[in-house]
Amino acid sequence: MRLHDLIDILACPACKGKLTATEDGAYLLCSPCGLRFPVREGIPVMLLDEAEKIQGQEPGDTGR
Ligand SMILES: [Zn+2]
Repeated sequence: MRLHDLIDILACPACKGKLTATEDGAYLLCSPCGLRFPVREGIPVMLLDEAEKIQGQEPGDTGR
């Protein structure tokens, strides 16, 4: 299964939003959360523990 097929069925574990892949396919991005999820050997790791903050982007404040 290719990464772009996976993106259609995957959702961000935090906001259940749609993900976008980076150009090199190394990460899946969730812009509302400002998080990126690593793709290891073609398998997206959809764990908040593994997610990284996207540099220079404020995470959306959904607390209120
Ligand atoms: Zn999200």
